[in-house]
Amino acid sequence: MYGDGRGQGRNSSGGRGRGGGPLAAGPGGNCVCPSCGHKQQHKVGNPCSSITCSKCGSRMTRE
Ligand SMILES: [Zn+2]
Repeated sequence: MYGDGRGQGRNSSGGRGRGGGPLAAGPGGNCVCPSCGHKQQHKVGNPCSSITCSKCGSRMTRE
């Protein structure tokens, strides 16, 4: 798993092997609300810790 953009730029492993769609885990994946369990997508460069849950207003965390 990558961090919220922090892990990008590392290519020591020889490139990416996953051809997942936009809903695949990783950069741009989902954030989950630790309070109510609501999940919502976030964009790269917009970490979950800066997003609040649209349902209950709690701070989101990475899924
Ligand atoms: Zn919530």
